Amino acid sequence: MVSYRDIPPPPKKRFRLESSKLEPDYAIPMILHCPDCGARHIDEGEFAEVAHHTHACQHCGLVWRPAKVNTHGVRFLPGYRNEEVA
Ligand SMILES: [Zn+2]
Ligand SMILES: [Zn+2]
Repeated sequence: MVSYRDIPPPPKKRFRLESSKLEPDYAIPMILHCPDCGARHIDEGEFAEVAHHTHACQHCGLVWRPAKVNTHGVRFLPGYRNEEVA
């Protein structure tokens, strides 16, 4: 029988975010969907101008925060496109 006390704990892995991504003006491009009604959330027009972390669903009005940092609802991730326009 193996004594688990002899097994060293696995090394702690920590996520390291690039510090620039935590700056107030930085917004991470994301494909965002409303967690309630599932509507696609795309930040366009005036919403595209200002970095924000809380998003309001244009369909049902739910306000949610997908991440601790600023996020930006995009149609396609920059440089990554494998989804056809519906
Ligand atoms: Zn938004
Ligand atoms: Zn919604």
